[in-house]
Amino acid sequence: MFFGVFQLGPVQRFISCSRKLQDLWSSSYLLSFLSCEAMAAVLRRGGEIIYPSLEDQPLFSYVWRLGEEGKKPWECPPSDQELMPTLPNRFVCKLTSETVISCGILAEAEKTVRNTFAEFARKVKQEIEGKIKLCWIWEEIWNRQIEGFLEIYWVISPLNSENYVKSYQQAENLFGARKAVRDFNQTGEPGYKCTLCGLRQPLHHSPSAVVGRGEVRKFWNEMRRAMGYRFREGEHLCAVCTLKRLMPQYIFGLKAEFPSTSSMAVADFVWDVMERYRADETSFKKGDRDIIEDFVKKARNVRRQAGLDFDVKPLPRTERLAGGTPALGKLSKLDGDWLINDTYTTLLRREEVDSAAITEAMKSLDLLVSRVDEVLKRQGLPRSSGPSKYYAIFQMDGDDMGDRIAKCRTEDEHREFSRSVSGFPLEGAIPIVEGKHLGKVIYFGGDEGIAMVSIGHLLPVLEECREEFQRRVGATASVGAVIAHHKQPLFQVLDGVRGALNTIKMRGKKGFCIALMKRSGDLSYGIAKWEYSGLKVIPLLQELVESYRKGWISRRWYHRLAMERLGLEGELDLAWAEIGRLVRRSADERGMPPSRIKDLVDGLRTLFVKLGDLTSFIALMDIAAFIAAGGGA
Ligand SMILES: [Zn+2]
Repeated sequence: MFFGVFQLGPVQRFISCSRKLQDLWSSSYLLSFLSCEAMAAVLRRGGEIIYPSLEDQPLFSYVWRLGEEGKKPWECPPSDQELMPTLPNRFVCKLTSETVISCGILAEAEKTVRNTFAEFARKVKQEIEGKIKLCWIWEEIWNRQIEGFLEIYWVISPLNSENYVKSYQQAENLFGARKAVRDFNQTGEPGYKCTLCGLRQPLHHSPSAVVGRGEVRKFWNEMRRAMGYRFREGEHLCAVCTLKRLMPQYIFGLKAEFPSTSSMAVADFVWDVMERYRADETSFKKGDRDIIEDFVKKARNVRRQAGLDFDVKPLPRTERLAGGTPALGKLSKLDGDWLINDTYTTLLRREEVDSAAITEAMKSLDLLVSRVDEVLKRQGLPRSSGPSKYYAIFQMDGDDMGDRIAKCRTEDEHREFSRSVSGFPLEGAIPIVEGKHLGKVIYFGGDEGIAMVSIGHLLPVLEECREEFQRRVGATASVGAVIAHHKQPLFQVLDGVRGALNTIKMRGKKGFCIALMKRSGDLSYGIAKWEYSGLKVIPLLQELVESYRKGWISRRWYHRLAMERLGLEGELDLAWAEIGRLVRRSADERGMPPSRIKDLVDGLRTLFVKLGDLTSFIALMDIAAFIAAGGGA
């Protein structure tokens, strides 16, 4: 018997080259899909997959079914569930000597993956060629870049069931050595570089030896016109990035755009609107007009004139709440940009959009914002801070997973472990992020994944995910998160997420690091363990957020503390006393029950003592205040 370890990529370099969340999703989905293709190829030739577990994995079943029926994804597009990238780009399998020798099983799996990828690229290329007349030079660039793209590594190593631990370790060591000898692609990439990845030449179709920027620009203006809004002005992409951008539509049949950062940012507000509307439609009338319908109509009018006439896919939970109500259905499909004032003010500078239409849309947005706030106030609920410009994105990673696997003494134990880890995305992360909260999982394979949430839901999502992971897998997980402005370039945000995760991993794991990336350029980090001898940090922060929202406590207390910081430096006892004094002084005792004030003060003091310094403590307080204000000061 043999172990096989198989991995495809590039991962980090590929997925982080994303301008939109859809790019990020598209690249993760492609890798997950191709990984399924490789695993299906192994199974068909008599191999067995040990990790991940393929039980109840809709994406794998989909890929398998396509193979059985000899169909392509565009002939039989995936369902919502099958559109979830829930499988990692790496797998471990068990192979018999026969399959290894007679059919070169992993070489065959690699061939299958390369063929599928080439086929996807061919399909997208045909779509483009159907719309633009192109010459041989474009074809040459396209083929060169697509052929040189995929990096696939695999090894085969003996499996001795008498000593499972050791032979698995040997397989992993061998794989490590194989990866260390990277296959460098020698093809030089001449001239300017793609504006998304910065690695490869942008596509063009000028046959001259030296290609000027003007020619590249001319080609991309043509592309933009032919392929609609899918490329932004100034975007000049290589074949790989073009494929990434167009795949969701042409390969996987996506009808609407993946939710954008702005849609995520305004999600809490949209939820408030929908809930209030559901409770009492009449409060959203002005005369006989429906305020929501009216706003959507005017926003759509502007978006049509601006050439951005497309819908986004609503967040799963929002979609359910919208139900069969037409006004809410339309609102949920409107990209978040149209609920943010700045979008309209920017458009005022553009000639092709009628400024009267913009003013109309802005007015009806204002009316919607003030109306929902009035309704909330009337019903004694926490007020709305309007559509937020900030959203959150986080990456979660199981702690010490390598050590855990190394402890599996038998194949059965290894498979059991695979099952508990592989089940987490579909039974843990997705139901929490998308079912209970306002969020969307972008990728989640086993113990590692990335998801976005509205800032109002960030804290509960983190706590529930890490608890559920621990319950299922019996291991802790760490999280790196960023709260970012919806206009912040996505690659910077993704860098921030990775940096935050590394920070907490370096500090001994079992905790979180949340980076608060303000539009002004200010950047601060809130770092803590999940728990300190019984004190759960996230629920404590959430209690603070809720007390702010209900108006029970004024945020002034921690501004005060921050001002006094210098005098309190190194004076732990003084600072400890001051925290209690300031919180109590800013609490409204008519609203907040005294026992809750006491618990909050005790919790904050313990947290401060455990963190051991005021700066880290204030950074966490900053995050709670920022979230409570819906992304304001
Ligand atoms: Zn590129």
